[in-house]
Amino acid sequence: MRKHVLLFMITVMGMGMIFSSPKISALENEKTNQQIETTEIESQTTKETISEKETTKVASETTKTESETTKTELKTTARAVEKKTKSKEILNFERATVKINKITLVSKKKIKLQWEKIEGATGYLIYRKTDEGGYKKIATVNNADITEYTNKKLKYGTAYNYTIKAYKEFNGKTYYSSYKRDGYNKVLKVKKKKIGKYHYYFDMDKQKIENVQNFLEKPKYCIKVNILASVVTIYAKNGNKGYTIPVKAYLCSGNIYDTCGKFKLGVKYRFRGLYYNCHSQWASRIHGEILFHTVPYKKSQNPTSLDVKQYNLLGTPASHGCIRLQCAASKWINDNCPIGTKVIFYKSQNPGPLGKPKLEKLKSWHTWDPTDPSMKEKCKEHNCKHTEI
Ligand SMILES: [Zn+2]
Repeated sequence: MRKHVLLFMITVMGMGMIFSSPKISALENEKTNQQIETTEIESQTTKETISEKETTKVASETTKTESETTKTELKTTARAVEKKTKSKEILNFERATVKINKITLVSKKKIKLQWEKIEGATGYLIYRKTDEGGYKKIATVNNADITEYTNKKLKYGTAYNYTIKAYKEFNGKTYYSSYKRDGYNKVLKVKKKKIGKYHYYFDMDKQKIENVQNFLEKPKYCIKVNILASVVTIYAKNGNKGYTIPVKAYLCSGNIYDTCGKFKLGVKYRFRGLYYNCHSQWASRIHGEILFHTVPYKKSQNPTSLDVKQYNLLGTPASHGCIRLQCAASKWINDNCPIGTKVIFYKSQNPGPLGKPKLEKLKSWHTWDPTDPSMKEKCKEHNCKHTEI
């Protein structure tokens, strides 16, 4: 065995001599010389018998083979280790399939996808196809916490098919989840259906359309105020059938003694002072001193001075006669209903075809309306989670 080592040394030394840098240090040189001498003596010994040399060669080859085996074994071990690490988090990830659990028609040009979160994902890749071709990636959502995407600029009447793949970046590598091969279909089309005396909109999967106004051509509205139930319902005109399309329902606070009747929407105000040193936003006149406006504020043009107590009374008659609404509702009327829009005050225990929305009550520190579009940042700062109205 000593001789095998010796032959190995000779080889190494020879190679060392060939490949050594000329700038080798003096100390290293000395060492090398000593080694060469030793090698020479040993080399002579080696040359004594040919058979011995041959044996050495064979042995050396065996060693080489063994060394290669060791290399292969190491590689196999590395792979096994990787596989073992993979099995913990990556394998599960690669097996998971992204499930789209809701596809909504938002407007004539937009479809919204919502899916279930995949554990450990870095983000999601959205694919789409139409009848004419294969899947094409249309978007990358590079935030693990976002599980929805709105596809815009679509063509009304078209059938779309979506599928989503999750991806995971780990140790410099990107891994992909499984995905539903045949995807999820959605037709961008709505149809009107008469139920009772009203007309509702549905998509091709019989899902009720929530944002009806986004599917109407130049809609004309009528605002009905139910003083008893404290609900304002907005209807769209359905040709010569009248205002039979319920569009939106909002909570309100009026006064039990408000006069029933038909009115026409008058002048609008971005900010409006009220009686009792109160203030409001997005007001519109109904008749005389009666307005639609937001819940009162304590300071003029200061959206963080909301009277929280009064806000929490929405859905009950609480005003001196005006119709109080949440900011989003007041603004909606201001934005969508021109001067002259029909307004009807009536009293009924029945809230109306869209029912009565629920009020999310505010804590005393929340001195702004959560539906106020100018206060979105403020809610973000406080990590609020509000439902849109
Ligand atoms: Zn908030």
